[in-house]
Amino acid sequence: MKTIILTITILFSLTNIFGQTEAPKLKLSHLTGDFYIYTTYNTYEGNKIPANGMYLVSNKGVVLFDTPWDTTQFQPLLDSIKLNHNKNVTMCIATHWHPDRTAGLEYYKKLGIKTYTTLLTDELSKRNDQKRAEFVIEKDTVFNVGQYAFETYYPGQGHTADNIVIWVDKEKILYGGCLIKGAAAENLGYLGDGNVFEYETTLKKVQKKYPHPKFIIVSHHDWRNINSLKHSIKLARKLKKKNRS
Ligand SMILES: [Zn+2]
Repeated sequence: MKTIILTITILFSLTNIFGQTEAPKLKLSHLTGDFYIYTTYNTYEGNKIPANGMYLVSNKGVVLFDTPWDTTQFQPLLDSIKLNHNKNVTMCIATHWHPDRTAGLEYYKKLGIKTYTTLLTDELSKRNDQKRAEFVIEKDTVFNVGQYAFETYYPGQGHTADNIVIWVDKEKILYGGCLIKGAAAENLGYLGDGNVFEYETTLKKVQKKYPHPKFIIVSHHDWRNINSLKHSIKLARKLKKKNRS
């Protein structure tokens, strides 16, 4: 797969007084057609963790799937998109209530970008003091933006009670967010808000509904490996057994 690193050089080339180059804070990669992956980083338990989101460049504006985790990168992401595609972001949808998905919602709302979550995500965001979207969707919804369509699907509890996935039928993209882990992941990550008993069933519902994805986008691991969903189901099965015994 062709991968183009598009990020503006100036974002990368902040040098300190010793002349060393700091690690990039924002990375843009081509996925397929008009779809791109953006990555920001944050520190969790002492480790630098990447967080992937996606964007779609349509003829009616750019759609963001989730917001940057790194709160310094809300505007640089918009600037990079404008520079690379000469288009503005017009819509943003977050896939669950954790800040690695929702941190930028209010920033984008203030700029006039239409922000969305599910009603359940909005309730959990409110309860947990997280940023909230302007609009809520009450059920699985098909969005039509310019020449593209994509749908949201709530398969049940897993990583969180509210996690949704997004499906783009034309390009066969399954955007899994934090529900799906990478093909090399050792575990299902943070489960403090998760459901260890339902996780496997939830993932299997996703697999059944979208059996032939060409791409599976995961939040915190390599999104180029298509075995991520299968591997996550294996991990979820083990997790359920462990919690039963
Ligand atoms: Zn996450």
